[in-house]
Amino acid sequence: MIECSNCGNLYDESLDHCPECLSSLHETDDNGDECGGIFEAVSVWIKDKGRPEIICRCAFCGALKTEPVEDSDNPVTLMSVAARPIASPPFPIERISELTDLMGGQGDMDGYYRDHK
Ligand SMILES: [Zn+2]
Ligand SMILES: [Zn+2]
Repeated sequence: MIECSNCGNLYDESLDHCPECLSSLHETDDNGDECGGIFEAVSVWIKDKGRPEIICRCAFCGALKTEPVEDSDNPVTLMSVAARPIASPPFPIERISELTDLMGGQGDMDGYYRDHK
């Protein structure tokens, strides 16, 4: 089991994020350096009418990633994240192109997506 660094919940290490608060740890950044920040769930979208994905942003370095919603995720947390107004996205403007790359399917999660269908 892993202890969530955000809410202290214990969860199985096979999960990519905490099912209670949907956060995970940013272990390494793009350069392979340790970050140690917490990826916070900032929004939820449904990509290509498929499975919903959680958009996560590292509270420390601002990196973005998406993760598929797991069956074990807390539906109340999911709903509260999904209901956040998209009109005030918590994304720094210089990260928008990174986000659109994710939307275009260029992100790392695509491999995961393919393998877990
Ligand atoms: Zn948590
Ligand atoms: Zn980070």
